[in-house]
Amino acid sequence: MTKRIIMAVMATLALSVGAQQAMFNEVSYSPSQTEFNFSGGDKAAKAVTLRLYRAGDSAKAFKTVKMKRQGSGAYKAVVAGDLKGCFYTFDAGRGEFPGYFAKAVGVNGRRGAVVELSETNPAGWAQDRRPAIAMKDLVLYELHHRDFSIDASSGLENKGKFMALTEPKAIKHLTDLGVNAVHVLPSFDYASVDETRLNVPQYNWGYDPQNYNVPEGGYSTNPYDPSVRIKEFKLMVQALHKAGIKVILDVVYNHTFNTERSNFTLGGWDSAYRYNADGSYSNGSGCGNETASETSKFGRYMLESMLYWVDEYHIDGFRVDLMGVHDIATMNKIRKALPQDVVIYGEGWSAGSCAIAYDKLAMKAHMKQMPGVAAFSDDLRDALRGPFSDDHKGAFLAGLAGEEESVKAGIVGCISHPDVDYSRVNYSKEPWALEPTQMISYVSCHDDMCLVDRLKTSVPGISEDELIRLDLLAQTAVFTSQGVPFMLSGEEMLRDKKGVHNSFESPDSINHLDWRNLETKPQVMEYYSKLIAMRKNHQAFRMGKAELVRENVHFLPTEDCLVAFVIKGTNVGDSWHDIVVVLNANKEPRKVAVEPRKYTVVCRNQKIDERGLDTVQGSWVEVPGQSALIMHD
Ligand code: CA
Repeated sequence: MTKRIIMAVMATLALSVGAQQAMFNEVSYSPSQTEFNFSGGDKAAKAVTLRLYRAGDSAKAFKTVKMKRQGSGAYKAVVAGDLKGCFYTFDAGRGEFPGYFAKAVGVNGRRGAVVELSETNPAGWAQDRRPAIAMKDLVLYELHHRDFSIDASSGLENKGKFMALTEPKAIKHLTDLGVNAVHVLPSFDYASVDETRLNVPQYNWGYDPQNYNVPEGGYSTNPYDPSVRIKEFKLMVQALHKAGIKVILDVVYNHTFNTERSNFTLGGWDSAYRYNADGSYSNGSGCGNETASETSKFGRYMLESMLYWVDEYHIDGFRVDLMGVHDIATMNKIRKALPQDVVIYGEGWSAGSCAIAYDKLAMKAHMKQMPGVAAFSDDLRDALRGPFSDDHKGAFLAGLAGEEESVKAGIVGCISHPDVDYSRVNYSKEPWALEPTQMISYVSCHDDMCLVDRLKTSVPGISEDELIRLDLLAQTAVFTSQGVPFMLSGEEMLRDKKGVHNSFESPDSINHLDWRNLETKPQVMEYYSKLIAMRKNHQAFRMGKAELVRENVHFLPTEDCLVAFVIKGTNVGDSWHDIVVVLNANKEPRKVAVEPRKYTVVCRNQKIDERGLDTVQGSWVEVPGQSALIMHD
């Protein structure tokens, strides 16, 4: 056989092995019959009943089938006739539920639905491809569907829906800003929004998982029709992909919303959770339970779920909620099994103590054991804005000295670097990333106060001018970091949440983006978009490799509230030679000594122009207060 034929045979084998091993393929539909499979609980149930319905939320079962026990403790039923459009539940003795891995559900996710998935594909779906963008080149934009589009000022038609992201105005905003990956807050079926009452405003971030493998009904235009949410989700992915934007899904496998009434518990799969020695549920998620990724079945569940989102919905990556609740070995298995271009990053912490050994957990401190997986840098975030534990405390941005070394660690992507003294870094006393692409660089996300609110609480008497200066300075640190930059949607509109720290169920008036700010404060969007463009145009800001960063990023001596560094651009193929970046959080201007050359200034005093704002010559440069300066020779 030629090499090509051997490779083709191997690919076929891999696919068929994968298909055979799918543990959670619960419904196989054909027009003549539908096969239902329930993989069982920890112990074989005495009996498992399948019920079939004409509707997703009401009416009595039109058929009840006793499922047949299989050798492994699984159950199976084959029902003749065309069941497309019907709904079903399993019942293993603890109450009805839609299975562990429903791929379509009725309203509020209580019953599974029989659909022909290929019929949910939009026109041209077979040609849809994940945009090829390397991890080092990503610009991440974290978005909640309702926040983004619900306000009248958005001018979007599909308010609060997946479909908003198919509208030209939304796409234009994202491409004007320059982001190339939209990270959507939980978009699988979650529990807290009543899908039968969508006429009443309801809000939740969605960290309350119900069905992991179905899009959320509240974001569809018709949650009663199981195909609609699936098709609309695909239309969203397709529209973003057409614009060269990746779609990253926030996945929350670390806990379920319900414990006693979760799909896992109802199916008798009690070992999906971890327990304390006294038999109570361990609560590393802070939400009442935590799942057991280290067990082969739940680890397999997470993997099959992510593979399904990649295959069926063309998802480009995952943001793993409370990744520190999961175990390292499972995260590595997932990394290996997902296509290499599928991005994985997560929160390298938990929200409480977990019921397995700390050294097994996928914590930020253990990232070196998980190459190809990235974690958020709370080091950089809190060095800039202040600690997560106290909204009123400031840090670098507030003009408080002592955070400079933590900012430097964030600039290099939390890798080991000769100029960074980790003993003086706020949280991590040693470098935790092997490569800078393992660090997500950010100053704000949906959690905690957004940047504007935090600046208001941590800088007493802040003026609007000062607020904007510090906001832009903060993002300059984020976007000149060698880590992967990430921003919360709406920051480009100088978003505020009226000081609300945890807005997970706050009304639209708190969470919505106010698009009018694009008109009234256009300088913010202008600066952000030019900053992002500069990063994208200059690989010196995104080298991707630790060795290159160690060799080509050098810090100048720091002063209080001032961090300055030189990037050797030409060494990494950049058209700019030496690039000098100064972040000055002092209220007053500062002078910084530089190599005496003629420099072109491309960022100063809240203005960016890659072609040059000005030139300066000499052995020092003056940097205005509360702002960034970037220049090159
Ligand atoms: Ca739901």
